[in-house]
Amino acid sequence: MEDLADWSRSLGLSLTGTQIEQFAAYESLMLEWNERISLTAIRDPHQIRIRHFLDALTCATVTGPLESVSLIDIGTGAGLPGLPLKILFPGMRLTLVDSVAKKAKFVELVAAELGLTNVMVLSERAEILGQMGEYREQFDWVVARAVADLRVLAELLLPLARVGGHVLAQKGESAQNELNAAGSAITTLGGGPGVVSTVHLPETGQAHYLIVIPKVGPTPTRYPRRPGIPAKRPL
Ligand code: SAM
Repeated sequence: MEDLADWSRSLGLSLTGTQIEQFAAYESLMLEWNERISLTAIRDPHQIRIRHFLDALTCATVTGPLESVSLIDIGTGAGLPGLPLKILFPGMRLTLVDSVAKKAKFVELVAAELGLTNVMVLSERAEILGQMGEYREQFDWVVARAVADLRVLAELLLPLARVGGHVLAQKGESAQNELNAAGSAITTLGGGPGVVSTVHLPETGQAHYLIVIPKVGPTPTRYPRRPGIPAKRPL
């Protein structure tokens, strides 16, 4: 885990001994459970640290400290990017969401094994949560990686952000094009102008992109539409 600690330091993020132990435990559970349920195509521990853990931690370079904020991770899969951010900022109130029950079970187990508190796990679709008073417009940060094109994702994420909060989407090289194409959807949903930041992961030679969109006004009550409709008929 020294590699992860060194890379994190280069991002201006320092990990404590406890946090390094938590990442090691998380990595072991991911490798073990990956044999039974499909969590990640990456099986090499070194690559898991770069492409999953460090990639998730890069979010903190644009969000700033996330202690004492509420954050919801939509389509979290194996817990990404939510769990690495929670390890880095233990005071965060974290909600992890995945529509697939066995993935939700996995992240629940990781949170318990790592002794993380204030973690809620929901096996539900984002479209349903976005219409529930308990979750709608409640979160400071709404994040997602590798879930959908931004035009679709905007309808899943923006309804959950409080006015004054933010949405963060981790994207590949299509980021700026996706943001341009999603402009009118974002405005319709109460979002303001998005900003794209570039991050470089070590050894991969790849640039990744973080899109941050401020929530500037309330989302009209008709959004999100029913499950599946955002993807079928993007705004
Ligand atoms: N975010 C993780 C990552 O970057 O490794 C997982 C990405 S995986 C490709 C996409 C995940 O989003 C899947 O686990 C899927 O079940 C979940 N998902 C897709 N649409 C969803 C929705 N509408 N509501 C909740 N979860 C959803």
